[in-house]
Amino acid sequence: MAKPTMEELRGAVRGQVIARGDSEYDAARKVYNGMIDKHPAVIVRAADAADVMAALAYSSQNGRILSVRGGSHSVPGFGTNDDGVVIDLGRMKGVRVDPRAKTVRADGGCTWGDVFHATYPFGLTTAGGIISTTGIGGLTLGGGIGHLSRGHGLSIDNLISADVVTADGRLLTASEKENPDLFWALRGGGGNFGVVTSFEYRLHPVKDVYVGLVFFELSAARQVLEFYRRYIATAPEEMGAFFAWQIAPPLPFIPEKRQGEPFCLIVACWSGPLEKGEAAMQPILKAGPVAARHLTPMPFPALNSAFDGLVPSGLQHYWKTAFATDITDGAIAAHISHGPKVPVVNSTVHIYPINGACNRVRADATAFAYRDARFATVIAGMWPDPKDNEKNTRWVKDYYAALEPHSSPGGYVNFMGEDDQSRVRDSYKGNYDRLVSIKRKYDPENLFHINQNIKPT
Ligand SMILES: Cc1cc2nc3c(=O)[nH]c(=O)nc-3n(C[C@H](O)[C@H](O)[C@H](O)COP(=O)(O)OP(=O)(O)OC[C@H]3O[C@@H](n4cnc5c(N)ncnc54)[C@H](O)[C@@H]3O)c2cc1C
Repeated sequence: MAKPTMEELRGAVRGQVIARGDSEYDAARKVYNGMIDKHPAVIVRAADAADVMAALAYSSQNGRILSVRGGSHSVPGFGTNDDGVVIDLGRMKGVRVDPRAKTVRADGGCTWGDVFHATYPFGLTTAGGIISTTGIGGLTLGGGIGHLSRGHGLSIDNLISADVVTADGRLLTASEKENPDLFWALRGGGGNFGVVTSFEYRLHPVKDVYVGLVFFELSAARQVLEFYRRYIATAPEEMGAFFAWQIAPPLPFIPEKRQGEPFCLIVACWSGPLEKGEAAMQPILKAGPVAARHLTPMPFPALNSAFDGLVPSGLQHYWKTAFATDITDGAIAAHISHGPKVPVVNSTVHIYPINGACNRVRADATAFAYRDARFATVIAGMWPDPKDNEKNTRWVKDYYAALEPHSSPGGYVNFMGEDDQSRVRDSYKGNYDRLVSIKRKYDPENLFHINQNIKPT
């Protein structure tokens, strides 16, 4: 078969084909993590599944490396490469809500902001990420942790089906009934198995939520962490509450003289009946001496975009992550010695609870293996100035080194860095061998390898 030429690719694609030398090239090659500076040969801004198929054929038949980009948030910069092909799904943003069936179908380039905006008027939502600009693609395929995880599970637990362009160029539907092995692997296996052109999710009756942002005095950090591990073990599942370290941003409810100081906080999202929200926050307010607080009902999409300003595109990123079944006393000691040193306002550490509904799914029911983990911690180093790279990556590395002995060996693939490839097998525990055999079936040549890679051999 003749290899498709660039000219033929341009003719076949209804979206946009951007190559070196084109005026939009520099803007199109940029990804969210400002630390990544790569120069692909061609970026295909796909308009539809047919464009994805054309770009994939061009890439595989010309022996080019292939990256797939959804929302572009990958910290290791998996959405780009040097000298290869990038399939950028960012223009595929169709969302169709079926309020009667309580489902939503969203194209592979949607962000969570796109999805939650579309479902909100129907008083419905699904389990997605906490930042509106994160792509549904990468986030869902790795698992998907967010405010609603305790009650409604991970994003993958709400996935009904996915349309996927596989390495051989076919468009397949994956669901419990069609290609169930592929559907199993997609739910946690990351971008290893194909390009998902649309996702179908189950929706839940959540519209407005009651939100609590509670900043505690650093001196009470131990007490707050001990409260948090106790409280979240049995809190009602409508309560999504994570622990965090954060330098106080200039927000109106934080006294001006305290802005710029580090605090420990609990970010709470009550998705039960709104009139019960204030009462639901009371135990959290008693966790320690409160330095600042903001308690308010708000639309779920407003919560989803509330922190976007802290994480604009173009920051430098270096992250580490750990799962844990418990926040042990040793882990608390590690948190307390490193958390207060959070270097800049953009950086943060979140301890997400993934108990409740996430733990009720069997470990072998989907590719996501850590169903016994109750916490997923992310140490998210994010800072504006490349001159500060050494200081900020050091903070993340030192923090992780202290936490690692109190954590499970694997990590959440979506929070892992480029230097975490060696943790991939551990991250899938007993599911790894099955993932390898499904990889062999759907991607024997490892076309999709710019990811936390599951190798077919
Ligand atoms: C600011 C920020 C906030 C975050 N918040 C959360 C959070 O609340 N919860 C959480 O679980 N994670 C969160 N993450 C991590 C997030 O899940 C990963 O960064 C994820 O990879 C982002 O997906 P994306 O589509 O935006 O990224 P991209 O860089 O576009 O994609 C990353 C990789 O995912 C794969 N991929 C993406 N889309 C597709 C597709 N349609 N088909 C096939 N493969 C695809 C590809 O391998 C791609 O290289 C956050 C990350 C950031 C930077």
